[in-house]
This record gives sequence, structure tokens and C-alpha cells, in this order.
Amino acid sequence: MQTKNTKILNFCQIQKYKIFKLLPGYNICMRPVKPWDLLNKDNWTIEEVRNKRLEICGECENYNSIGQCKLCHCFMSAKTWLENAYCPIRKW
Ligand code: SF4
Repeated sequence: MQTKNTKILNFCQIQKYKIFKLLPGYNICMRPVKPWDLLNKDNWTIEEVRNKRLEICGECENYNSIGQCKLCHCFMSAKTWLENAYCPIRKW
């Protein structure tokens, strides 16, 4: 029998959403952010969060000299503004 949680997980996998485990039996699924999400300020996080993320990236071995992440290839000065964005290796 399929539980509600299983249905959500299947949906997330089909849609290629990122699934995070919170507690046993509980999961959240997040749609990968897209560059055009920046066009809507409702998708933005607060400046303090954005600055903290950028600070973490600045100290990361995967952050290159033009401000791009070597793993996700995003420009972090932009991506860090998006509320639902996340680091590919979960540093933030
Ligand atoms: S997103 Fe993560 S892996 Fe990429 S530069 Fe920032 S901290 Fe490093």
C-alpha cells in the first residue's frame, strides 16, 4: 500500500526535485532553483542569509576566481539570494 509520503517521494523523483530527509519518515522536497527565479523578489531570502551564504562560498575550495561554484556552475553572487537555493554539498 502506498502512503502519502511515498506518493510525495515518487512525485519528487519524477520531477527531479531534491529530497531531504528531516526525521525518520519525514521528508521535504525542493524544486531546484532556476536563474529566472531571481526575477521574482518573493523568491529572495533576506540580506543577512545571503551574505552568510556568500561568506561560506568565499572560503570554499570549490569557489573560483570569477565567483562561480565549480560544482553547480552557478554564479554565487546571484544564487545565494534565492531562498530555496542550496549548496550541492550542503555547506549551506
Ligand atoms: S555552493 Fe557550496 S560547494 Fe559551491 S562554492 Fe558555495 S559552499 Fe562551495
